[in-house]
Amino acid sequence: MTERPAIVVHGGAGMVAPERHARVRAGVRAAAEAGHAVLAAGGSALDAVVAAVRVLEDDPTYNAGTGAALTRDGQVQTDAAVMDGTTQRIGAVGAVPNLGCAVQLARAVLDAGEHAFLVGPMAWEFAAEHGIRPVLDGSLVTDRARARLRAVLAEPGEKGGGTVGAVARDARGHLAAATSTGGVAGKRSGRVGDSPIAGAGTWADGAAAISATGDGEAILRVALAHAIAIRVAAGASPAAAAAASLADLARVTGGTAGVIVVSATALATVHLSAHMPCAWISGADRGDQLAAP
Ligand code: ASP
Repeated sequence: MTERPAIVVHGGAGMVAPERHARVRAGVRAAAEAGHAVLAAGGSALDAVVAAVRVLEDDPTYNAGTGAALTRDGQVQTDAAVMDGTTQRIGAVGAVPNLGCAVQLARAVLDAGEHAFLVGPMAWEFAAEHGIRPVLDGSLVTDRARARLRAVLAEPGEKGGGTVGAVARDARGHLAAATSTGGVAGKRSGRVGDSPIAGAGTWADGAAAISATGDGEAILRVALAHAIAIRVAAGASPAAAAAASLADLARVTGGTAGVIVVSATALATVHLSAHMPCAWISGADRGDQLAAP
């Protein structure tokens, strides 16, 4: 049976200042187009989510790659994961300094198949073997990321926002998910959030693919993405599964998060935060939004 390809992209749960609304929506639209082009050419869901997330890593508007949130000493250390729903293979990287294409390194980890998760500066040894090099110190740091760090250090407030992710279903019905982030502004060096952790910020199996964003420490406590997948496998729609699991997260942790979900038959974008820029393409249905309609 030929399934209808679909892709959904998010640009992070949080609050987006009014002057940035148009820019964040344009960015997620461009990423969805890049992922959809892969699917339309007969490519895999795995290739599509990596292509979509790479676009957003290079866009300084988002908290991933260029523009990533900074550690409290002003460094970029990125986290990412990519998961293939058919094989349930995952590749992930965490707290890797000066890494602008974390999803690409995560994909190399998945493809190599030796390990699932590499962390810290030593991950550069594996990266070099796969032709991925660190960028020059400081070159991923934007003025906006510096200002955000200053603001968080001066007065603890919203630290996340701008994480990116994608979920896709290809023409063969295979699902995949990817998430990439700089984490939270002002984090300790070495901190890894939910994004690269299988079942927390990223998950894909035969029933659903999920990318989460928001309060990472809260998402980890409820294994948010896996909780949604279990509900979808039991027959819930992606929207109902996401809403129920986000309600559990809020009840257990008091935290806030958002998710994008794709299943064999449906897709959903659900968030508790004020905003979560999203774009999707599924056959003739294409659109984008900043907050829930
Ligand atoms: N979940 C991410 C983290 O905790 C941050 C975010 O999505 O805004 O690293």
